[in-house]
Amino acid sequence: MNNRQLFLSNLAQTTDFPLLIEIEKAEGIYMYGPKGEKYIDLISGIGVSNVGHRHPKVLKAIQDQLDKYMHLMVYGEYVQSPQTQLAKALTDTLPKKLDNVYLVNSGSEAVEGALKLAKRYTGRREILSCVNAYHGSSHGALSVGGNEIFKRAYRPLLPGIRHLDFNEPDQLDQITEETAAIMVETVQGEAGIRVGTKEYFKALRHRCDETGTLLILDEIQAGFGRTGKFWAFQHYDIVPDIVVCAKGMGGGMPIGAFIAPQSIMSVFKNNPLLGHITTFGGHPVSCAAALATIDILRDEKLIQHVERKANLFKKHLNHPKIQEIRNKGLMMAVKFEAFEVLKPIIDRAIELGIITDWFLFCEDSMRIAPPLTITDEEIEKACAIILQSIDEN
Ligand code: PMP
Repeated sequence: MNNRQLFLSNLAQTTDFPLLIEIEKAEGIYMYGPKGEKYIDLISGIGVSNVGHRHPKVLKAIQDQLDKYMHLMVYGEYVQSPQTQLAKALTDTLPKKLDNVYLVNSGSEAVEGALKLAKRYTGRREILSCVNAYHGSSHGALSVGGNEIFKRAYRPLLPGIRHLDFNEPDQLDQITEETAAIMVETVQGEAGIRVGTKEYFKALRHRCDETGTLLILDEIQAGFGRTGKFWAFQHYDIVPDIVVCAKGMGGGMPIGAFIAPQSIMSVFKNNPLLGHITTFGGHPVSCAAALATIDILRDEKLIQHVERKANLFKKHLNHPKIQEIRNKGLMMAVKFEAFEVLKPIIDRAIELGIITDWFLFCEDSMRIAPPLTITDEEIEKACAIILQSIDEN
């Protein structure tokens, strides 16, 4: 049995795997197959490899930490310097108010923690989120997710959750004094890169203040430089009450966090056993990788070039079959007439050495979210291959 057959026999065969390619090695923006295939990774493992695959500084940080210790104890029981150093580095990137970091394993777990925290702090039960939002795959995260197809099979989900249309200021009066929190993606990712307006986010912040509702921003896909600022909410001139992050945070290692002011987080601290218990949350090796990732983003000035690189993609991806490009920095969606038009283009692009895909809730658009380390020449080359794939279809 070859690796591909083994993979299929071991994994749920009911799933349609969109990109069944085998990868043997990855480095920087490139991934390599077993027969010498070389691909440009244009999706960064869905917004994870913002500093590229196996960045040497991430590898060194991991190795240094491995030489000290891996797991010691359930999160929060011992003082572990990788965790405290990471918390400090994270809060240094954030407005002063957001000064308490709770480390977890993943995006979904960060969402769960944030929802629990909001309920505990406000004593309220209702949670709002947005239509077509994606917040993760665990029960709580699915409940705030805004796409019925993904939720149907798992009902009953969490009670007390309602969904508003994203970027619709007119609906914000549905946030009331009963609402514990509203969770919103700063830029909706799996909906196909839907970018909210400043007017909307300002009105959202204002309404939350009026009603005492916590504003939770999901920066899991948009954070860590992807949109051209460290945090996407920094484009909107607002400060959330809770931020959730993961994905790009670990430079390829699994880690997440929810971050809130001390005044809010203290409801967990005052009785940790009623808070959020996580064995591997803030794993020291992942923390070391995350610390290195923050250093790399800063030292290599990767975020400063995001907007220019995005514009380069937009300049080159000029074709009559491309109907629209939606983006916030290097979080991009290239729209075609339909999935039936896009799918063969993606298949051909993969054959020609470009890894891309589409979105969970938006199948007519190609995802472009490369490592922020991609060079101008590599962008030109990637765009030429995409255009060739379009022309050949
Ligand atoms: N929120 C957003 C905006 C995401 O894009 C994702 C992952 N695609 C998640 C939450 C869930 O993260 P994870 O897969 O790490 O649980």
